[in-house]
Amino acid sequence: MQTIGVIGAGTMGSGIAQVAACAGYQVILTDIQKEFVDRGLDNIRKSLERLSAKGKIKDSVAAVMDRFTARTGLEDLERVDLVFEVIIENMEKKKDLYREIDRICGPEVVFCSNTSGLSITEMASATKRPDRMIGTHFFNPVPVMELVEIIRGLDTSDETYMMAKKLCESFGKKTITVNEAPLFAVNRILVPMINEAIFVLQEGIASKEDIDLGMKLGANHPIGPLALADLIGLDVLLMVMETLYTETADSKYRPATLLRKLVRAGHYGRKTGRGFYEY
Ligand code: NAD
Repeated sequence: MQTIGVIGAGTMGSGIAQVAACAGYQVILTDIQKEFVDRGLDNIRKSLERLSAKGKIKDSVAAVMDRFTARTGLEDLERVDLVFEVIIENMEKKKDLYREIDRICGPEVVFCSNTSGLSITEMASATKRPDRMIGTHFFNPVPVMELVEIIRGLDTSDETYMMAKKLCESFGKKTITVNEAPLFAVNRILVPMINEAIFVLQEGIASKEDIDLGMKLGANHPIGPLALADLIGLDVLLMVMETLYTETADSKYRPATLLRKLVRAGHYGRKTGRGFYEY
C-alpha cells in the first residue's frame, strides 16, 4: 500500500492524514472547498512543527508535507489503495459519497469510515463491496490518542479487517476489535458512565466537585465525568445518549433530565462558557 485517500479535511480527517503521511504514505486529501483543504493542511503543518520541535517525528516537516496532494474533487481517488472517509456524521451524505467513490475507485480498494457511531453495514449497502467496508474509529486529537477501534460490519471480510488493523498499527496506533453495535465499545461504556454521574448529581447524592474528585481519586480517571462532559459538549453528549437509547429501546440508557435541561438552556459546556462548571 502506497497511496491513501482521505475525504474530509476537518478535525479528524486532517489528523488521520497527518499520521498516515508521518508513517510514509502518500496522501490525497480532499474536501468540498479549497479553503477547507487549505485549512486542514495548515493545521497539519502547525501540528508537525510542534511535534518536530519536541523531536517526536522522524522526518522533517517539509518531507512529510511533500507527501500530500490537495484536491477538491474525487477524481484523483481512482489511484488510491485505500480510502478513509472522514466527512460529517450524516448517514445520507455518507451513503451518497460511498455511491460515488464505489464507481471511481478500483474494486479492490478498501473503504474505512471514521464514523463515531453510524452503522458500517448500512454504509456498505450503498456500495458493491460490502466485504471491503470497515470502521476505523480514531480518537481526538488523532496524533496524540493511541487508540483506533476497528469495527466490523455484517459483511466485512477477514482480509479487510487484517488490512485495516495492520495499516492503523503502521501509523503507531493500538487497535481493539469491535463487532458493529450502537456507539461501538469505548463510547458505549464511557457515555452511559457520564450520564450516570449526571443522575448522581441530579438525585442530590453528591456535589459536582465531589463526583469528579471521587472518580479521579477513587477510579483513577484523569478527569472527572462532569468536567469531561463539559469538554465533550453537553449537546453532543445528549445526542449520542439519545442514539443509544433509541437504537436499543432500553430504559437504562435514558438521558438524565438534568442533561436535557442544561442543553435546553443553551449551556453546552466549555464552548458556551457554562455547563456543569463556569469557564
Ligand atoms: P469536521 O466538521 O471537522 O470535518 C468534516 C469535513 O468534511 C469538513 O471539512 C467538510 O467540509 C467535509 N465534508 C463534508 N461533506 C463532504 C463531502 N461530501 N466530500 C468531502 N468532504 C466533505 O468533522 P470531524 O469532527 O472531523 O468529524 C468527521 C467524522 O469523524 C464524523 O463522522 C465524526 O462523527 C467522526 N469523529 C469525530 C470525532 C471528534 O472528536 N470530532 C471523534 C471521532 C470520530
